[in-house]
Amino acid sequence: MNIAHVEPLAMRWPRGGRSAFIRITAEDGTFGLGEASPMYDGRASLSIITDLAQHLVGADPLDSGVIQDTLFHRAIKLGPDGALAGALAAIDIALWDLKGKLLGKPIYKLLGGAWRTELPFYASIGGNGVRGVEEVVAEVEAWMNAIDPSMVKIRFDADKTTRDADIEGDIAKATAVRELVGDGFPLAFDSNNGYSVQGAIRVGRALEQLGYTWFEEPVQSYHKANFEKVASAIDVPVAAGEQEYTLAGVQALIDAGVGIIQADIVKTGGFTGLCHMAALTRAAGVDFVPHQTQPVIGHIANMHFVATLLHSHSPVEYSDRSGRQDEVFSNPPRPKGGRFALTDAPGLGLQINEAAFDACILGQS
Ligand code: CA
Repeated sequence: MNIAHVEPLAMRWPRGGRSAFIRITAEDGTFGLGEASPMYDGRASLSIITDLAQHLVGADPLDSGVIQDTLFHRAIKLGPDGALAGALAAIDIALWDLKGKLLGKPIYKLLGGAWRTELPFYASIGGNGVRGVEEVVAEVEAWMNAIDPSMVKIRFDADKTTRDADIEGDIAKATAVRELVGDGFPLAFDSNNGYSVQGAIRVGRALEQLGYTWFEEPVQSYHKANFEKVASAIDVPVAAGEQEYTLAGVQALIDAGVGIIQADIVKTGGFTGLCHMAALTRAAGVDFVPHQTQPVIGHIANMHFVATLLHSHSPVEYSDRSGRQDEVFSNPPRPKGGRFALTDAPGLGLQINEAAFDACILGQS
């Protein structure tokens, strides 16, 4: 059963936001859905998918690994990072969804089986750099009350052109959140590349005292040696990897002492890419806790992958509870009792309302 159609889809949601999807349809009409990183609405990745589509038509979706390496090397001079990696991610996720539907199996089964199909999650709460201390506490409290997460991460969404803008304020917010949730509740802190080495070490020592589980992207992603300086100076584990797209990039973080790798399924090669990275992290004995911000396809794909990971102690990331894509999916993922549950439905297990879905495709509504 070969591929008949490839559609890069710029999606516009009625209640706000855009997404970069792909639909790959087999000769019998069965289709798989994928998603690319939403940076600048994923337009660069969608453009690359348009160029690569000619090489997918007629191919066997079961050859997803060969397809990925073929397309990667065909387009490698675009640069192996960023938009190309996002395009390959979207294609790969759609191929695995399609493979699952053709074979009648959920993706986690095709990956070798799930250690667990009910997954705890952490609330990934952004925008805290511009909030006051009391506003941060109120925001965290709202998330805790609404969805009962197993862990909370506060993100500062720093302007990457400045450093150490408000270290005292950041520590005050981290302290207030600890007081809100109490000792022992898992917390993570994400500076979004906001500090110098010295600033990061200062914040990291405070996070140690406050019992934070990890310190995410303390320094600029491209300063690998600075990760090593920070990681070697503090006891709280350093997390990073959402801005890595290649095995070499992940290996550099591991070599720098990063203890939690966070490569993202919609940014870097989909299931195929993350499986390769999982092997690296397993060989090094570091944790793999993938980054993930998208509410439906990205989130479900990430959970199928995480379900198959050995020694996966951390909850999955959940950052968008807006429900802005609910109109087009009949069964969008929703947490229940502090968990997301995967079913044994084929592929990703998502059902779409086709008329509503098509109405959100830019250029078709
Ligand atoms: Ca992050």
